[in-house]
Amino acid sequence: MRRSRNSRGHEPEGPEMTVREFVSGLAFIARDVWRPTPRSDLYLDCDVCGGATPHSSYRQIISATKENPTLVAALPEPVCVVCRNAHPRVLGDEPPCDTAIVCTGQRRRRWRSGRSGRPCRAQFTVPASAPTVICPWCSTQQDGPTKRR
Ligand SMILES: [Zn+2]
Ligand SMILES: [Zn+2]
Repeated sequence: MRRSRNSRGHEPEGPEMTVREFVSGLAFIARDVWRPTPRSDLYLDCDVCGGATPHSSYRQIISATKENPTLVAALPEPVCVVCRNAHPRVLGDEPPCDTAIVCTGQRRRRWRSGRSGRPCRAQFTVPASAPTVICPWCSTQQDGPTKRR
């Protein structure tokens, strides 16, 4: 005798997507396609790279000791894109983005992966002391103002 798995009337476990979530997800994708938003990298002085470098991710250390079993979360530390070192934030570590440069990278294809081969040439502002920058429009890592002079 055959019996289906859901014969007892249980819903399958796991996250379910409601129609509302599905529609809002579609709207989010559509907005991103029609109006691409630039990256917002944080330029911070990196003592390893010797200048202001883009930091786009954060690292957070959560620790617990035997004496104090509660989880202690340290302040999130921005991670340097170039050397992958995390830096705790200090006062005045964010130099002003006052130097405009033109992107030397290539644009991304919108629907397929890879680069389209067309130059990006987007203009964006970075700190004058940045050895390496990332274009906020095509995410290409390239030489900053200190190496272009
Ligand atoms: Zn670095
Ligand atoms: Zn670009």
